[in-house]
Amino acid sequence: MNIALLGPTGSGKGSLIHSVVDRFGLHPIALGDVLRQKATYGTALGLLTREFVQNGELVPDEYVDAMVEECFRHLPAGNGTILDGFPRTAGQARFLDDLLADLGQKLDAAIYLNLPEHVILERVARREPQRHDDEPHILRHRLHVFRRMVGPVLKHYYDTGRLVLLHADAPAHEVQLSLTQVLDGVAAGKHPAFSEHDFNFLEQILKPRFEPPTTPDPALNLVLLGGPGSGKGTQAEAVCKTFHLPHVSTGDLFRDNIKRQTELGRLAKGYMDRGELVPDDVTERMVAARLAQPDAAHGFVLDGFPRTVSQAEALDEILHAINKKVTGVVHLEVGDEEIVRRLSGRRICRQCQAPFHMIFKKPRREGVCNHCGGPLYQRDDDKAETILVRLKNYHRQTTPLIAYYRTAGVLTEVKGEGELTAIRAAMLAAVKLFSEEPASATVV
Ligand SMILES: [Zn+2]
Repeated sequence: MNIALLGPTGSGKGSLIHSVVDRFGLHPIALGDVLRQKATYGTALGLLTREFVQNGELVPDEYVDAMVEECFRHLPAGNGTILDGFPRTAGQARFLDDLLADLGQKLDAAIYLNLPEHVILERVARREPQRHDDEPHILRHRLHVFRRMVGPVLKHYYDTGRLVLLHADAPAHEVQLSLTQVLDGVAAGKHPAFSEHDFNFLEQILKPRFEPPTTPDPALNLVLLGGPGSGKGTQAEAVCKTFHLPHVSTGDLFRDNIKRQTELGRLAKGYMDRGELVPDDVTERMVAARLAQPDAAHGFVLDGFPRTVSQAEALDEILHAINKKVTGVVHLEVGDEEIVRRLSGRRICRQCQAPFHMIFKKPRREGVCNHCGGPLYQRDDDKAETILVRLKNYHRQTTPLIAYYRTAGVLTEVKGEGELTAIRAAMLAAVKLFSEEPASATVV
């Protein structure tokens, strides 16, 4: 039996899981622990993740997925698992289904701990010791983001008949008892029925939060999508220079907020220092603050955000709040074979970090740096097998994102292979079209 226990911060997932694992012989998998362990064990993936964290970059979901996969593949044989903190998105829920199917198993139930926001706020206020992110205004935003993200996850499990809503606004021992009863039922192949209250809750959490604005927005509010090695960064620079737009990348946002020691920067650094993922709500608030700056009034190029449909919805919400919307999305398309060719050829000088490439920028002497004579090496994330894992997970995550923007009528695809000048020209032409047509006319 495999179970995902879902619930907001303060819902008591950890202690509940602890209370049932022995009785049902379940192996607990807490996402936080998986990430911490990986970093300590020094596996390639763990090292990569640590590199992201140390460079102040968002750890892409595809890495998180890959770590969960590694964890499942190395589990000792047993009765099953109970997951805490995963899946966080509908994409991850589908990923988990595929993974378990591949292992000849399935996720039997997703149990959602349902409790009202005021109860969570009260509980967290009593938490000892207080964590640095327990302040009410941070927490309220976190819960808001959580609800938006969990909605599609709940829908996925509802549609596939595996969702259980557990009333968690009760003393701990009562919630434990209900969970035990639910698990007994699931083990016997029976899921509890939904009450009218449950249906009301589902309707609330699944309904669209706002209507998109109908007035056209003449600004060039652009999102640039492209996989690892697609050359997205270079193209973003060209677009920004030509159209006089600020380049907004999440990596820069993190570094800038941390350097200026903003509240969000300090918050993000706290997570990074503990080797934890920076939660989406922190990233979203950084993006929101940046896009509200005067230099973004006539547009911007977003690079590295959104990465998931849930983040795309967040972006819609952020822009809606300042009376804007996404006016164009360019997907820079590069075939997997070409990406492997590009990335696996990269070499870096161990001494001065100068980059080289075995095809595009060969060193004068093989394996030796032109500048300082230092030895060249291949980073773990440039090895072919790592690239393939990244690509597989990238596609899994990006395919729904691309569909999301295609449905919204704002997507253009540009081929990112061939002559650099030709790619650049195609890119600029695509953006020029966005600037000429009113947004409403691009809807197919
Ligand atoms: Zn060197």
